[in-house]
Amino acid sequence: MDDCLFCKILNGEIPSTKVFENENVYAFKDINPMASEHYLFIHREHTKNVNDMSSHPEQLAQIFQAISLFTQESSLEENGFRVVTNVNRNGGQTVFHTHFHVLGGEPLKGFGS
Ligand code: 5GP
Ligand code: ZN
Repeated sequence: MDDCLFCKILNGEIPSTKVFENENVYAFKDINPMASEHYLFIHREHTKNVNDMSSHPEQLAQIFQAISLFTQESSLEENGFRVVTNVNRNGGQTVFHTHFHVLGGEPLKGFGS
């Protein structure tokens, strides 16, 4: 997608701080962290949100396998973390390339805590 911020991050046009990558998935630090650790996991194939990605279920599996590998290699899994994906206006989605926020590094507020 020509005009997609995260496609530009994927092709290196816009710099990012990589924390994980494999042939399908790329993950980088969020520029405006909402927790002491805040990463964005994206697929190299452009889709606009998780519902769109659901037409390609292998992409969902690849993303969550990447999150699993990454969090097991750090202290995130042991200490706990949260995965969030926002969809459209009421969900607060601002970048329309499917992405999964991985948040942790401290006790997270909300959703029952
Ligand atoms: P959304 O609001 O769509 O769920 O999440 C978009 C996320 O992308 C936000 O948390 C925002 O801080 C992050 N973001 C926006 N622009 C950039 C950028 O240029 N670089 C990085 N690393 N993150 C960005
Ligand atoms: Zn894109």
